[in-house]
Amino acid sequence: MAEIKVLSRDIADKIAAGEVCERPSSVVKELMENSIDAGATSIDVEIRKGGIEYIRVSDNGCGIDPDQVETAFLRHATSKLSSIDDLYRIGTMGFRGEALSSICAVADVEVITKTDENEEGVLLRLKHGEASEREEIACPQGTTMVVKNLFENIPARMKFLKKNSTEAGYVADLMGRIALSHPEIAFSLISDDKEIMSTPGDNNLKNTVLKLYGIDHARAVIPVDYEEDNVRIKGLIGKSEIARGNRSRQTLFVNGRYIKSNVLSKVISEAYRNSIMVGKFPFFVLDIEIALDCVDVNVHPAKTEIKFSNEGRVYEIMYHAVSNALLGGREDKKKEEPIQNILDEKVYVQEKIVEVKKVEPYIPETKAPEVRPYTPERKPYIPEAKPYNPEPYTQKVEKEVVKEFIESTTFTESEKARITPPMQIREDIKTEVKEEVTEEIIDATEEVPVIKESLKPVAQVFDTYVLCEDNDILYIIDQHAAHERHRFEDLKSSYYKKEKMSQLLLVPMIIKLDYAETETVLSNLDVYKGFGFDIEDFGSGSIIVNATPVIASEEQVRDLILEIVDAVSDLGKCTLADFEEKALDMIACKYAIKANKKLNYAEMQDIVDKVLDLEAKGIKTCPHGRPIKVQITKTELEKMFKRRV
Ligand code: ADP
Ligand code: MG
Repeated sequence: MAEIKVLSRDIADKIAAGEVCERPSSVVKELMENSIDAGATSIDVEIRKGGIEYIRVSDNGCGIDPDQVETAFLRHATSKLSSIDDLYRIGTMGFRGEALSSICAVADVEVITKTDENEEGVLLRLKHGEASEREEIACPQGTTMVVKNLFENIPARMKFLKKNSTEAGYVADLMGRIALSHPEIAFSLISDDKEIMSTPGDNNLKNTVLKLYGIDHARAVIPVDYEEDNVRIKGLIGKSEIARGNRSRQTLFVNGRYIKSNVLSKVISEAYRNSIMVGKFPFFVLDIEIALDCVDVNVHPAKTEIKFSNEGRVYEIMYHAVSNALLGGREDKKKEEPIQNILDEKVYVQEKIVEVKKVEPYIPETKAPEVRPYTPERKPYIPEAKPYNPEPYTQKVEKEVVKEFIESTTFTESEKARITPPMQIREDIKTEVKEEVTEEIIDATEEVPVIKESLKPVAQVFDTYVLCEDNDILYIIDQHAAHERHRFEDLKSSYYKKEKMSQLLLVPMIIKLDYAETETVLSNLDVYKGFGFDIEDFGSGSIIVNATPVIASEEQVRDLILEIVDAVSDLGKCTLADFEEKALDMIACKYAIKANKKLNYAEMQDIVDKVLDLEAKGIKTCPHGRPIKVQITKTELEKMFKRRV
């Protein structure tokens, strides 16, 4: 048997480091948590090359005493825990005394720190975990930690890191979450000399949301403050208009610590039931304040999972908190904070920042962005009324029927004009079709048959379904499913044939995104271009959209771009083909006639024609696999009415 050896300190530290420092963002997290524990009111982070080359975290907290500086870097050195009982009562962020020793095991570290009581501060440099240089220096109160050349001595770990911009995105995301849990602290993040985030630190969560996610979000949040059984839930939830296609805008804390919980996220979605579209995830920033002995968070400081001692109860309380806030949000609209207040607060925020922080001046986002001047080639798009193209389907309603129908119905002139002109049916096709139809109807009970004969709508019900009668069958068509699928097929064929499917916007649209999203969009401009978007960087976390694949309202286009951002972010989880289909479907869906929309006769006929068109290609479902049309036979009806047994 091999000899048992005690690991050297160096190796042991590197193993421990693996748990604590997985990537630059985890180092930033540990350092920021130390700054928060040190009582800082302002924390500035700077990273270079995604944090791999350089990380700096500066705070104005209590600082470290000169004769404690070296101790802080020893394994299990902590000022936050002295007995085992503390472990269960601990309210601070970090408490295992492992972060600093782990970080200095995998990087070069430099600390500059000064406490209030000391005249002078200390600069300490550590290389490979050992103090290499120390001097007394003059510096302001607080601590600056600089971490350089992360994982340089562990090439294996280096390999697991992603692109610099992706790593920077992780840092930005993490900082955003921490900033949301500490609106009383001013945070700023600089990445490769560019400021990409800053929060006011004015203890107003809405202002933090405003700075992180833009005015759309700040306008659409509802405050939550709810208490039951000593569990308090506080924060903001978003109205349905800012719901997103994934969970990226959902932030949950327990006693200020960022956690992830799919169950709680589901509970919250459940409270939104009926007020949010299927497949959309509501925005929220919520903190659960709960007695420390009811949670177990010390499983691992770097983990974001959590255990409650009475889980079911916490879920219930969360459900009540969110449903109550949603009800309140709907009921007393008048009480809603007018947006002007936010704007005033912003001005206040601006002054405050000047006072406490030396960051770049705060520029309120609401200031109308400069619209780029029109260049002659940017011709306004004039939508042409696209006539229905009846080409592939010669089996149209016969002229007389349509004429008779038009005459018997009161149509406006424009409606009349929109009714598809009937085609002359060739006698041979007619007979051929008739035969097939009779054949199909015989085994109609088996499966919904393909409608071969032209069909005319008879009515629309629930503003959602188009009814058609054909011989002895009543067809019920889902107007949205049919339209969406038809549009989807069109888009797909243009996309794969690389046909142009772009519409120039009359007024280019400026959309504010967060750091990670901007990165996602800008590094995938070709993907967007393929789908007919013309997008450019507009600077400071905004993009400018010049053209889109569909003509839709500004709100819809914004939605669509964000949906595709979400889908692109999830790209790693599916194949490219799946992604393409998903994106095309999103576009199709935005364009398609919705359920709950009243249709006129011409529109109903158009839907029916689209179903015929699709069925001729063997397509019977919407892109999500739901049926487009169902049927009830005359026989079935007769049975229902007991005319027949
Ligand atoms: P822990 O946070 O678990 O105590 P760390 O290794 O992260 O362990 O830090 C060790 C100790 O160093 C802390 O307990 C604290 O006393 C001190 N320290 C670390 N960072 C700071 C900081 N930014 N300001 C003041 N003290 C700090
Ligand atoms: Mg710590």
